[in-house]
Amino acid sequence: MNSTPLLQELSRRPLVCDGAMGTQLISRGLTGGECGMTWNVTRPGDVGGIHLAYRNAGCEIITTNSFGGTRFALQLHGLAGRVAELNRAAAQVARAASGEKGWVLGDVGPFGDFLEPVGDVSADELRTAFQSQIAALIEGGADAILIETMSDPAEAVVGIEAAKACSTTVPVIATYAFQKTAPGEFRTMMGTTAAAAMKYATGAGAEIVGANCGTGLSLDDYVKLAEQLVAAAGNARVIVQPNAGSPRTENGRTFYDATPEEMAATATRLLAAGVRIIGGCCGTTPAHLAAMSRAVRAAKS
Ligand SMILES: [Zn+2]
Repeated sequence: MNSTPLLQELSRRPLVCDGAMGTQLISRGLTGGECGMTWNVTRPGDVGGIHLAYRNAGCEIITTNSFGGTRFALQLHGLAGRVAELNRAAAQVARAASGEKGWVLGDVGPFGDFLEPVGDVSADELRTAFQSQIAALIEGGADAILIETMSDPAEAVVGIEAAKACSTTVPVIATYAFQKTAPGEFRTMMGTTAAAAMKYATGAGAEIVGANCGTGLSLDDYVKLAEQLVAAAGNARVIVQPNAGSPRTENGRTFYDATPEEMAATATRLLAAGVRIIGGCCGTTPAHLAAMSRAVRAAKS
């Protein structure tokens, strides 16, 4: 683990975390049906290479390759029995790439279904599943746990509770995916506003809360969303990881067109809005993150 606690460093200065992992794995040969998490074991050099590219781009915080790491998500690949192994390996690979001066976020994505009563999974079952994943991420060397791309605040709360049950000292970050509704409000797919999403997460004990990914948000929208999150944050720190602009579809393929310069300008505005951790989501590359981390360093000095 990094010897300086993440929260302590954040009270001194803003930090930059990394960008997209999935598209980077695909560009190194991951195929459609393949589970990217197996690469933590079979191709650790490739996963570590992606982490290093972000590290060299100036990202002091990197995120483990473990988005679909609950037994529910791994089950789709017939890998439900390998939760501990694949998550521990994810954290170890990230830890090795990060070095002692960087921070590693143990990544936890949605379990992939709805909680009861809409779905079949109870909060207790999900909490147990999240705990198995998170315990392995911490064992592998994660400095903090990132519960990300949440739409249902109840799932976010269960994830935060699971992280708190695993460790009382490892900080918990929760990020939601928002979309813009017709009246121009930001809500998650489940209809939760930015202020309510913040309240659920901080109420469950998350120290850092914000937004990642999202649907149909322009770079301007991420800045407006950041302002709403900061206004509702209280003592919590705010994290925002925008996509590389709003996507465009062409012949069934999705393209994110924002340039590194546009992302850097957005990073400067997010910082001014009070965001404390800035990173990227879909469509972002080490080139985007390099420009963004230069902008964050320039804004501080
Ligand atoms: Zn995304």
